[in-house]
Amino acid sequence: MRISQRLASLPASDTVRLADLATRKRERGEVVYDFSAGRACEDTPGPICERAIHALRTGDTHQTMAQGTTAYRAACANKLARENDITADPATEVIATMGNKEGLLCALLATIDPGDEVIVEDPGFVSYGPTVRLAGGVERPVPLRPENGFRWNLAELEQAVTPRTRALIFCSPHNPCGTVHSRSELDGLAALAARHDLVVITDEIYERVVWAGRQHVSLASLPEARQRTISLMGLTKAFAMGGWRVGFALAAPARIEAMTKVQQHLITSVSSFVQAGASAAFGEPASAEVKQLWQTWEKRCFHVADTLDAVPGLTCPRPEGGFYVWIDHRTFDGSSLDWAERLLREFGAVVVPGSAFGPQGEGFLRMTSVKSDDELAAGLERLTAAFSSP
Ligand code: PMP
Repeated sequence: MRISQRLASLPASDTVRLADLATRKRERGEVVYDFSAGRACEDTPGPICERAIHALRTGDTHQTMAQGTTAYRAACANKLARENDITADPATEVIATMGNKEGLLCALLATIDPGDEVIVEDPGFVSYGPTVRLAGGVERPVPLRPENGFRWNLAELEQAVTPRTRALIFCSPHNPCGTVHSRSELDGLAALAARHDLVVITDEIYERVVWAGRQHVSLASLPEARQRTISLMGLTKAFAMGGWRVGFALAAPARIEAMTKVQQHLITSVSSFVQAGASAAFGEPASAEVKQLWQTWEKRCFHVADTLDAVPGLTCPRPEGGFYVWIDHRTFDGSSLDWAERLLREFGAVVVPGSAFGPQGEGFLRMTSVKSDDELAAGLERLTAAFSSP
């Protein structure tokens, strides 16, 4: 059967593929410890669910404006003012998305033409390159080198810019490496983007989960970067709302208008009752329970990192933010794929090989840390056993 070349040549998402594999194994009754996708074990906080249920019960079951309901966009603008130091006009600068993945496709479709180049991180989130390709562009990975703490070297980044480069995408807090951009790094990126007139797409899906008292800074809060930035924000991670498929983007009005056309043709609108629930999450400050949950996640991330760092031969620094630990196994023979396969085959533990995030990820494994204490204990025992009997 004929499949388009565009899709035939597109890689699968290794994180989603592995999470699906773990689910299938579980459904067959096999014991698996799943640390693949960044999905917290907790459920969405009750009040957010109640708001969506109320919407369903009171007839809020119809398509909404393609750009999102007025109430949802107001809640998003409220959140930007409260948490990101950004004043945004909800009528023209905010759009509802079906999560950051869909927001990214809208952003790219509004930004690039066929053959345009987009700079992405290596290692970086598995969907950036494929989404650039879906939008007709060409991804240009620029290494985040281990010896540079998995941060971009600005000179190397600048060398990757060509006359065809239109945009760059970055993620902070970072998936998979767990780094958080400092204000001075953002200043450097903003200046580089201005020099080459690039659009910057920021993926801020982990913005609320930053550890050890760090602060997340949004690039769009820098006045000089605001007009050229498309900020993607979502609820999937911090509020354990991955199944809701909702987020929003902040961008200049002309870009929001273009992105709205994509929503009109592709999805019509984000689900009405989902926007109602999401308004509860974005419209008000996080509750004490939610903040408590984030503290629990921080402890789990540090516990996982410290435990693996103590295994002879492994190096696993504490992440600065996000859901993952990034395990350096380069002192052991075998590729990251070999290790991930062995962990699954012999130990029933699912982790993601670093090479799934780009060539620079070779020699590393990514493990999700926001799992239950029991699952983490079982998983850590198995990883420790595997690397103690290589
Ligand atoms: N961006 C990054 C960096 C992610 O890690 C993920 C989830 N794995 C997403 C986007 C997906 O976000 P959403 O659920 O909002 O589409």
